[in-house]
Amino acid sequence: MTTVHIIGGGLAGLSCALKCQNADKKVVIYEASPQAGGRCRSYFDTELDLLIDNGSHILLGGNSATLSYLNQIGSRHLITEIRPAKFPFLNIKDNNYWEVTPPKFLSTSWLKNKSSDMPKIKLKEFILLIKLGLAGRNETVRDIFCENHPLYPILLDPLSKAALNTSAADASALLLWKFLKKTLFKGEKACRPMIFENGLSPTLIDPTLQYLQKSGTKILFQTRIKKILYENKKVKALKFPDKFFSIQPNDSVVLAVPPDTCSELLPELNLELQTLPIVNVHFRINKNITLPGNNLFLGLIGSKSQWIFIRDKLLSVTISSAKSVVNMPNKELVQVIWDEIQYICKINQKNPPPWRVIKEKKATIAQTPIAVGRRPMVKTLIDNLFIAGDWTNTGLPATIEGSILSGNIAANEVIKTIK
Ligand SMILES: Cc1cc2nc3c(=O)[nH]c(=O)nc-3n(C[C@H](O)[C@H](O)[C@H](O)COP(=O)(O)OP(=O)(O)OC[C@H]3O[C@@H](n4cnc5c(N)ncnc54)[C@H](O)[C@@H]3O)c2cc1C
Repeated sequence: MTTVHIIGGGLAGLSCALKCQNADKKVVIYEASPQAGGRCRSYFDTELDLLIDNGSHILLGGNSATLSYLNQIGSRHLITEIRPAKFPFLNIKDNNYWEVTPPKFLSTSWLKNKSSDMPKIKLKEFILLIKLGLAGRNETVRDIFCENHPLYPILLDPLSKAALNTSAADASALLLWKFLKKTLFKGEKACRPMIFENGLSPTLIDPTLQYLQKSGTKILFQTRIKKILYENKKVKALKFPDKFFSIQPNDSVVLAVPPDTCSELLPELNLELQTLPIVNVHFRINKNITLPGNNLFLGLIGSKSQWIFIRDKLLSVTISSAKSVVNMPNKELVQVIWDEIQYICKINQKNPPPWRVIKEKKATIAQTPIAVGRRPMVKTLIDNLFIAGDWTNTGLPATIEGSILSGNIAANEVIKTIK
């Protein structure tokens, strides 16, 4: 029986494994770290005495590949779906609160006013977002909507950072458009925010491992591949730190690692993809602290904090495209963020409660027009070697949905080749 060797146990590798296994292929996963999940994982933090995620993640109703993945591993019920779709925002500078509420059809009101002075955005202006779809390959969001457009500070920049981890000044207009086409422009259902109230690993990763292991897939943790040896357009062996492993002529190898590791293992791909950080600050809070509007999450304008998530005793703040804060000393950053939280949640407590800062320095690729043009396809010059990962050319942003889709695409190619 031929074997599919998958290098990397993040979501791209896991979704590839799932699909190959369902096609009755023998699968082995090699994962460098002691835990699967890669950039999408949870761990028990002894300082906070809580299970925390490396960063708060959000899905949308339009993430169809992810939803079918969740159905398959049996954990769709663990996701909290906010219906009808609602994105609450607070402008910390003027205390203005509003909710973006995409309608079922593009006809009714998009905004619910919760304060006397809501930003003046009309449906007509949302329709203007179609301009993004007419952008050239080299254009950024800011090239299409200049900074003084009313939607820029309250929608386009926060959206570019949230969906592409790239500020509107640098983000690819076409990639943002592709994201909008699958979500905002599909109506309310495709926009429903979905939150991991039970944590990322218990929802997405652990059930996958159980599913895979039950059907015989081997997962080798702490197994770092150091080199891929090939000859005559065929992978011949994988090199581990202390040994070689031969690859049989009909076997396939899927490289589902981040772009920098892929460059090391396959320098001939000539990857030049920059990455950008995401910073998360987690606090252990009293259960009685709530967000304005009693929401589970809140978007912020005019502050360092961009999104706040609350689940039970955990309050987490996300800062995407976080170049400006990633090198700040943790203590200083925590105080700045806690001062904002105090103001937003009306808490009178100067010193921050127990906290944890997680700086994911290479959270995603910078999704600029240049980078989007450089994303490689799944097939390589080596016949039995394929690549997967959120950074590959899926046509989607580098997200959970993109990584799961990339794993599915790689699996389809592997299955075709093995046939
Ligand atoms: C803080 C943060 C917040 C995010 N928020 C969101 C969000 O709200 N919504 C959303 O959809 N997406 C979000 N994302 C993006 C999402 O997490 C990623 O797109 C996704 O997890 C990438 O999965 P992947 O499998 O492509 O890569 P990875 O998760 O990086 O997986 C690669 C795996 O390969 C392993 N590996 C590396 N080198 C080797 C080697 N030599 N040998 C063997 N194994 C190796 C790694 O250990 C890792 O497990 C966020 C990411 C971060 C970091």
